[in-house]
Amino acid sequence: KMSSLEPPEDHRICVCVRKRPLNERETTMKDLDIITIPSHNVVMVHESKQKVDLTRYLENQTFCFDHAFDDTASNELVYQFTARPLVESIFRKGMATCFAYGQTGSGKTHTMGGAFSGKAQDCSKGIYALVARDVFLLLRNPAYEKLELRVYGTFFEIYGGKVYDLLNWKKKLQVLEDGNQQVQVVGLQEQEVSCVEEVLNLVEVGNSCRTSGQTSVNAHSSRSHAVFQLILKSGGKLHGKFSLVDLAGNERGADTAKATRKRQLEGAEINKSLLALKECIRALGKNKSHTPFRASKLTQVLRDSFIGQNSSTCMIATISPGMTSCENTLNTLRYANRVK
Ligand code: ADP
Ligand code: MG
Repeated sequence: KMSSLEPPEDHRICVCVRKRPLNERETTMKDLDIITIPSHNVVMVHESKQKVDLTRYLENQTFCFDHAFDDTASNELVYQFTARPLVESIFRKGMATCFAYGQTGSGKTHTMGGAFSGKAQDCSKGIYALVARDVFLLLRNPAYEKLELRVYGTFFEIYGGKVYDLLNWKKKLQVLEDGNQQVQVVGLQEQEVSCVEEVLNLVEVGNSCRTSGQTSVNAHSSRSHAVFQLILKSGGKLHGKFSLVDLAGNERGADTAKATRKRQLEGAEINKSLLALKECIRALGKNKSHTPFRASKLTQVLRDSFIGQNSSTCMIATISPGMTSCENTLNTLRYANRVK
């Protein structure tokens, strides 16, 4: 029985689901928790088919994943089963990627960036920090010491098909493909880091940049993809890379008739990039010559994570437990199911 709790040794695509607890607002409005996790890899959605009363009947939908985490799981536990098994691959010239996918408010940033306590975010408990912790541990491993690796961090945002550097005052950057089909984000800040604290500083700088100058903070950050990368270099050359991506909310734009033009365009762009992402992940490891990475800026920028021989990916699909989120939750589970 315990063996199912061991993190897997090796896999190129791992898809997990994480359910968050009902929040205060949902509890106050007596929203129902319609999600159960009956075992370590099964998610059930109990969709009420009629008005909730004593005679309601529930229709269940069941989904299977590599792992499913209920609302008691910590970031550390989620990390052990998702990003952790990929960390060592970047020391062996691998490209690792971890995505947080889900509707706005379902826990993507909580998972990647760290838990909020009051207003402040505790970056030290997010997957960014946990990956950094283990990268610096492995760096001192005798097996890798002789490579004389140096570690660099980047942090940028993709919004409306444009790339903005979160470590450089949101400077707008160009993306170019060179003759060797390498994709370059021209002028992207790569800051050398030598310990976890320095990584946390980068995360904080980026986060404050991400939200500055916005009237509605969450409204903006939920419409953009945030990419945080830890890059290993040896002798000035790229050795391996871990990309951690806090994706834009996957919810369909509210009522199209009422949505502003700007909102519609945002929504279309997000849709396009999430579709392209699904196709690129599905092509991973299948030796497909036409991975459609050019179909969106997000997948283009992550090209080497999809094309490389030594690429591995994990996705954490985050879901809200409430009945009021049922449609979005089902959409998230279906998408995650297709990515596997
Ligand atoms: P997203 O980035 O997907 O829009 P957030 O990560 O900002 O969502 O989460 C929304 C709120 O829910 C935050 O206040 C966050 O602290 C809380 N939350 C999310 N996931 C969890 C969790 N697993 N446990 C406790 N609180 C959570
Ligand atoms: Mg967020």
